[in-house]
Amino acid sequence: MRVPGEDLEGVLGGINFLYDVKTNPSVTIGRRVAVVGGGNTAMDACRSARRLGAEQVSVLYRRSREEMPADNIEIEEATEEGVNFIYLAAPKAIEGNGNVERILCERMQLGEPDASGRRSPVPTGETFVLEVDTVIAAVGQGIDFSTVPAELHDGRKMKVGKDYNTPLPGVFVCGDQQTGPKIAIEAIGNGHWAADSLDHYLTHGTPKKPFFYDIVQTDLGPEDFADVERTTQEHVAHISGEKRLAAPFKEYSKGLTEEQTLRDAKRCMECGCPDVFECKLRKFATTHEVQPEKLAGAHIEKFEDANQYYVRNMDKCILCAKCVRACDEISGFHAIDFAKRGFESVLTPHFFNDMEHSDCTFCGLCTQVCPVGALTEKRVERWPHLEDPTIVKTTCMLCPVGCELDLNLDRKRSRIVRVTTDLDNPEAPTGGSCCVKGRYAFKDVADDGAFDPALKGASSSWSDAVAAFDAFAPCNDAAFVLGPSLTTEEVRALKEYAALRVPNSQFSAVSDTGFIPLLNEAAKRKDVVRATYASMTGPSPSSDIRCGEADAYLLVGTNTDEDQPVLTSWLRRSARHRKSALVYIGETPGLLDKGEAVVLHPEAGKEAQVLTALTSAVKAITAKESVASIELLSGTGVLPEDLEKAAGLLAAAKHPVTLIGAEAPAKEVFDAAAALAGGRYLLLFKGSGSVELISATPGILPTATLSTAQKNMGTLLFVGTTPEDAGFTADSLTGKQYAVLSSVSSPLSEKADVLLPLLPWIEKDGSITNLEGRALSVRRGPLTKKTGKSLCALLAEAALPHKGRIHANPVAR
Ligand code: SF4
Ligand code: SF4
Ligand code: SF4
Repeated sequence: MRVPGEDLEGVLGGINFLYDVKTNPSVTIGRRVAVVGGGNTAMDACRSARRLGAEQVSVLYRRSREEMPADNIEIEEATEEGVNFIYLAAPKAIEGNGNVERILCERMQLGEPDASGRRSPVPTGETFVLEVDTVIAAVGQGIDFSTVPAELHDGRKMKVGKDYNTPLPGVFVCGDQQTGPKIAIEAIGNGHWAADSLDHYLTHGTPKKPFFYDIVQTDLGPEDFADVERTTQEHVAHISGEKRLAAPFKEYSKGLTEEQTLRDAKRCMECGCPDVFECKLRKFATTHEVQPEKLAGAHIEKFEDANQYYVRNMDKCILCAKCVRACDEISGFHAIDFAKRGFESVLTPHFFNDMEHSDCTFCGLCTQVCPVGALTEKRVERWPHLEDPTIVKTTCMLCPVGCELDLNLDRKRSRIVRVTTDLDNPEAPTGGSCCVKGRYAFKDVADDGAFDPALKGASSSWSDAVAAFDAFAPCNDAAFVLGPSLTTEEVRALKEYAALRVPNSQFSAVSDTGFIPLLNEAAKRKDVVRATYASMTGPSPSSDIRCGEADAYLLVGTNTDEDQPVLTSWLRRSARHRKSALVYIGETPGLLDKGEAVVLHPEAGKEAQVLTALTSAVKAITAKESVASIELLSGTGVLPEDLEKAAGLLAAAKHPVTLIGAEAPAKEVFDAAAALAGGRYLLLFKGSGSVELISATPGILPTATLSTAQKNMGTLLFVGTTPEDAGFTADSLTGKQYAVLSSVSSPLSEKADVLLPLLPWIEKDGSITNLEGRALSVRRGPLTKKTGKSLCALLAEAALPHKGRIHANPVAR
């Protein structure tokens, strides 16, 4: 304070006083206290004085409230606690006989702004006196430079360069020494930069000034947020000053409740670039200390939010063409390319169509490879960016192609923030390809498996529901109705449980039983061989992972766009880059009906006839004979010239593959496959669990057959499916007891005798078998606290009282 009398007994330093309060609960303060200063230390001091019993506490501040540096909340709460604020007053002298008795103050007025930017206090000569017992000086602190040579400091802080070094080589400073008195958080931040500079000095011989490349957008106005709902900020509950003083040193501010915190967090508008942690340009700009203003040019303000999966911001595009190449060379669609020139260049589908009306299948590969924030996925609402996600490699369970997915996990919040693929993993079955389902469907199942177990519609404990499920056994008229996405381990566990508890039960599958005759036919034949992906996919121009050689594809009764989307992508790529031939027999060629593809649409029920004609024609062309099978086409609706063209393409191929859907006539389609060079084929199941389930469960029935012969089945056990998805109705379930074990509920599930929630596919552990017969690992993603459990754990629990040993953890099998 630098006023006479400040050495009297009863004059305290603010920090020392607070230290005493903290360490010595019996500290005394007197009845009347004056606190000099206007910062947060002054606020702590005056409020602590009130808590120690001082009746009259005055804060003397030499400027007005407007200039006061203390937080508003502190000033307001101090006022509520009875602290008296005297603005525009400065201490002139402290008087007393050994102890403080009074403080003489001078009234001030505001003059011109000083170096701090605030209006400076100017003495008026007018004085007044406050009778006090204690004076607390909370007027700031400084550095003790008594041992530092004068040429190294200016009395307030050290002489320091922008790179944190001082005139003494190798001596760096940070914190208050570098900035003068400031808050601790600034000192900590500067400490990081100073350490960085010091490290550079030690490793490169020179200090380094901090550089972090950031873009700050300053041209935003209310109109940019017009579509954002206005909601009020949450505040902590207010406790009156009286109540606070009644429990003097008890914590009273408990912060926001959990609900308030969640509500408040939802107000976040995610104003930053979603690619902040992934943008390579930003990283390089930081590393190389780029000054982009030197290269400023025209901007193209083109932002598109035209589909549900990702947005395009051409203002951030650096025209690197990675997305164009990825779409063309890996995804095989060439849905986008550049248009216009120079600063006007844009990335666009052909003819400036929007994405929804282009060949884009929303596989998301372009967003993954874009090195900047020009193509960014729409993340789940309000989910923050994540700098360092945990990567869990798993296999997509949405079809049996078996794409490897990298789940990017936010472990703290038990959720997936995005799905990427590993384009450099030679072990990945599809070489880093995936489709829209694998990329984005994780969002759809985030809430699955979160309902309670129930008995006849009433919530129940897990153990009661498991016991009720187990109490169905033993019975002789039970059938399991199995969904399409069970893991190999789940199917095995079910078989073990059935053998233990319901040995005469019937297994039925909701889908893919149409392949049973095809599997039986394949088992009999020696002239065909199951293809592998490596044998059927052409090499990707951007990588040599896929070194296959297929030069023609015969597809029969398939719809790969819907059921195995990555196969569509591969076939399009192969046709585009390798000029592979494509012959399609069936109803829905979808995106494969492109370019030179030959599409044959037989009349309903005439597929076998067309296949026989095609086989005959291929054989004739191969034998260099004239095609005599045209008359076989009679009544099929297929034109002879189309059949001849198809047969010619297939006969000419050295490495053809036949892709077979469930409805294909078994003998005729294998005859056709056998007539082609190599005899390679692939059965295109739809369910990720079907390859194992259908192939390894003798006697399995189509659920549809079961539901027509259901008179004999008094007990139905739906596993991995709901009654509705399995084709059942309330009428068809009348008079039966049934249980539903599923990750989703449904109206009929809620009426089940037993309903048990299972975890969704994204949280399963185990394995599946893909189309080429490879066993692939499935690894669980987020560790959520859901009510649902894994099927294996559920069956292990049910089997335990009967001394059945079913592995609860599939990975440990
Ligand atoms: S989402 Fe897939 S198909 Fe669409 S443009 Fe991107 S890479 Fe091409
Ligand atoms: S990958 Fe990104 S930056 Fe590169 S051309 Fe495509 S949109 Fe532009
Ligand atoms: S093709 Fe099948 S396995 Fe691959 S990502 Fe799509 S749905 Fe999943």
